[in-house]
Formats: sequence, C-alpha cells, structure tokens
Amino acid sequence: MEIQHFSHHHPLVFIQAHSVASKAALCLGCQKPVKGWSYGCTQCEFYLHKGCAELELAPKIQHPSHSSAKITLFFGHKRFDLHINCALLQSSIAANFPNFLHPHPLHFIQNYNKEIEPDCPWCQKPISGPFNHCSDCTYPTVFNLHKECAELPLEINHPCDRKHPLTLLPQPPTHPQKCSCYLCRIQWKGFVYSCSLCNFDLTIDDILFSPPTITVASHEHPWMLVSTKIYFVCDFCGTDGDHSPYFCATCHLIVHKNCISLPVHIMITRHHHTISLSYSFRPNQVEDWMCKICYEKVDISYGHYRCPASRCRYIAHAHCATDKAIWDGTIMPKGYDERSEELVDEPWK
Ligand SMILES: [Zn+2]
Ligand SMILES: [Zn+2]
Ligand SMILES: [Zn+2]
Ligand SMILES: [Zn+2]
Ligand SMILES: [Zn+2]
Ligand SMILES: [Zn+2]
Ligand SMILES: [Zn+2]
Ligand SMILES: [Zn+2]
Repeated sequence: MEIQHFSHHHPLVFIQAHSVASKAALCLGCQKPVKGWSYGCTQCEFYLHKGCAELELAPKIQHPSHSSAKITLFFGHKRFDLHINCALLQSSIAANFPNFLHPHPLHFIQNYNKEIEPDCPWCQKPISGPFNHCSDCTYPTVFNLHKECAELPLEINHPCDRKHPLTLLPQPPTHPQKCSCYLCRIQWKGFVYSCSLCNFDLTIDDILFSPPTITVASHEHPWMLVSTKIYFVCDFCGTDGDHSPYFCATCHLIVHKNCISLPVHIMITRHHHTISLSYSFRPNQVEDWMCKICYEKVDISYGHYRCPASRCRYIAHAHCATDKAIWDGTIMPKGYDERSEELVDEPWK
C-alpha cells in the first residue's frame, strides 16, 4: 500500500512493523519515535505514524463548537508540533478582539505549557502559558499573542502624559533616520502606546512589565519606579532616557529598567580577564578613557566595564561590552574575587 503525502515528494509505503535498523526513526509529524503502523520513504528516511499521516490528509477539520472556524494543522514545523491542535480543540474564540489589530479571529488557548516560538509580536517577549493563536495565519506566518497583550485597552491614561490619553498602535510611529530616542536605540518593533501630539511613545514592555519596585541579587537595595516623563542619564550605562527610570534612594542612582539587570562580572571574547561593571564614582578624575570596543570616549562618571587588573587599562561602555556580538552571555559568579586577576597578570619571572 502506498500513499502520496503532500509533505513529501516520493510516495510513502505502508510499514506494518519497523525493523531494528529503523528503530530510532522519528515521525516527522509529531517528532516521536515511529513504531507500529506507519508510512515511510526509506530512501529519504522520512517516516510518519499512520495516524499522523492520515491526520494530514485532511488538513482542515471543523472546530466542534464553532462550526465556521477552520483549524489548520501545521506540518513539519518542528517548533510548533501537532499538540497545538489538541489544545486548539479545547480553545474558544477570543471575544472582543479588534480586527484592525489583526484581520483574523483568534483562538484562546488555556492549557499549553511549552514555550512557543516566535516571541509575542506585541511585547517582543517569549510566550508560555495561556495565549491567543490565529489559525488562519499558517506557517511561516505564525501569529500568537500573550493573553495579557490581547487584552490591552486601545487607549490608556498614563502618568507619563498627563494631558492626553495614549493610543495603542501596531508599530512605532516613523522617526527620522538618525533619531536617538529610546525606541529607535533599542530598535523596538513591537506595539506602542503613543501620543502624536506630544511625540511620545511607550512600549508594551513599559506598560506590562514595569512593576513599582524591582529587587535583584546584584544590588542590595530595591529599585523604585519613577513613573513619569523625565529626562535622565542612566548611572549604569551613561546613555539618556526620557521616561520611567528606576531609582535607588540609598545610593542615589537612577537607571534604565533594562540596566538594572546588567551583570556585574562578565567574560567577553575581546579580553582575557573577567571585566566588571564599575559605578563607584570618583570625582576629580579628569583622565580621558577610550572604550576598547568602539574607540569612543568613556565618561567614567557613569557606569562602565573595566578590567580590575590595573596594568590592562581595559575599559568599555556598558552597551558595547554587553552587545550580543561581543558577549556570549557568560556571567561570572557573585563571589568572584577581583584580586585574583592581578595575580594572573603577574609578569612571568
Ligand atoms: Zn505579549
Ligand atoms: Zn491571522
Ligand atoms: Zn526615535
Ligand atoms: Zn500628549
Ligand atoms: Zn542604562
Ligand atoms: Zn542602592
Ligand atoms: Zn585585563
Ligand atoms: Zn564603546
């Protein structure tokens, strides 16, 4: 018995029982080992459980509770396996979702506990837990949304703009090419709340993920949100911001929310020692320092990374040192001893 399956260019042969040789083969549909009845192309080592292959022969099935809703099966998209369809069978249509934000109805999926790719297009964060899924957008255009994001109001009043409400927009308004505002600097591509009169935008991240206080292991005091439109220069990274900084009342530090989590000790590919975030300000230091990564001036009255081995004189901007191209994410442990670098650096006798 042979079938022609849309997912493979050769006919697939019915296999009653797998031989020992093909034991480790995985079903390309559900990514689980194939045993028992299946279809396969031995030439390409392409296998499908009989059930998965037949499921796919009828790619559209009717939703039991919404007869008009089609459910499309995503095939061979490894990150989005067939279990989503089981979840979809128990889903409901998300009510009141404005269709100018997405042209298709969304299914609300309550029980799905794996992380889903790609990230939520609105807040740009990973999705796990309850979410909304569009079954009309098919791979590679996958559309999933956090439940919280899908429920965001179209208009909000926010302390950052005391005169006007902010409106939800599917993408940031266009800014001039060399704009240095925060959105342009972080290349924000998600949704924004915007006031066109004030030229002011907040990211969904600002709205959903900016709690009144943040406590982290790397700083002994809590950081408090200053929820207002205010110009500041971040004490950790030395670049400016235009709204909602976090403040440490004990140390009198004011920082970007994202800079709170800057790691203290890191290892980067460019330097052979661990470098450390330094923000102990030494007034009267007039010496000029140059960033060893971008070769521009480092104002050491703000935070920066430096090598504790004094003879290295290695210093870098916080953003340069933590750039993805420079730093692979290796964080050195908390109890790391800076003095050991001086020992390592002792010239050979
Ligand atoms: Zn989201
Ligand atoms: Zn869609
Ligand atoms: Zn801008
Ligand atoms: Zn305004
Ligand atoms: Zn900063
Ligand atoms: Zn502090
Ligand atoms: Zn060094
Ligand atoms: Zn730099």
